[in-house]
Amino acid sequence: MNLILLGPPGSGKGTQAKLIVEKYGIPQISTGDMLRDAVAQGTELGKEAKKYMDAGQLVPDEVVIGIVKERLQQPDCEKGFILDGFPRTIPQAEALDKMLEELGKNIDAVINIQVPEEEVVKRIVNRRSCRNCGAVYHLIYNPPKEDNKCDKCGGELYQRDDDKEETVRQRYKVYKEQTEPLVEYYEKKGILYNVDGTKNIDEVFNDINAILQKFT
Ligand code: ADP
Ligand code: ADP
Ligand code: ZN
Repeated sequence: MNLILLGPPGSGKGTQAKLIVEKYGIPQISTGDMLRDAVAQGTELGKEAKKYMDAGQLVPDEVVIGIVKERLQQPDCEKGFILDGFPRTIPQAEALDKMLEELGKNIDAVINIQVPEEEVVKRIVNRRSCRNCGAVYHLIYNPPKEDNKCDKCGGELYQRDDDKEETVRQRYKVYKEQTEPLVEYYEKKGILYNVDGTKNIDEVFNDINAILQKFT
């Protein structure tokens, strides 16, 4: 099963991707996580990407396309994958189509998680992420059992540099302009499924599962 999770920043893509990984055993491919790893490791790519990320802008297409192309060729993607946060522009979607064609694969479903701007802002300013394993929490909606400590691995929780209100609003604007056109792109291909992302985490996961039944 090959999936794309689409939706504005803070819509719950990462949270749902992790639940899908647990249930279906296919890997999550998060370009955001891969870019943050590159930043943390201080690679050239990371240094370049950080400028865009801190400003709430998209990293150039050719950079993320290169990362995804490499990742999709890894053996663990044979049984399927979940793209989280990619594609984010029409050129990225076109590049993905080309890559998949070369690999003899195709996308089964694009899950579009719909959440309005005000809710997205509330979610992101209170998001906390684990430095060690990448688990995601929310101080109010999904708090860790112990303050600042990851339930799963005990790692330290931190607030991402780009999870400040001003940057979130900028990222939402970028989403509207550059990413939302993908909804129509995938609708035309007949593989788009809309999900109401304002429900709680378990309810959203149930709705996604109902869609995924067809593909397993
Ligand atoms: P969120 O989960 O809040 O939507 P991400 O972790 O997906 O955020 O992305 C964080 C930042 O990383 C983006 O604002 C952007 O700068 C960069 N990024 C992630 N994925 C892409 C992509 N597919 N294309 C361009 N930039 C990306
Ligand atoms: P994205 O990957 O789309 O940026 P995340 O999965 O990181 O989104 O979720 C953003 C924030 O909202 C996190 O703090 C997460 O715990 C919280 N969250 C995710 N899904 C829901 C939901 N359905 N209801 C309330 N909060 C949620
Ligand atoms: Zn952790």
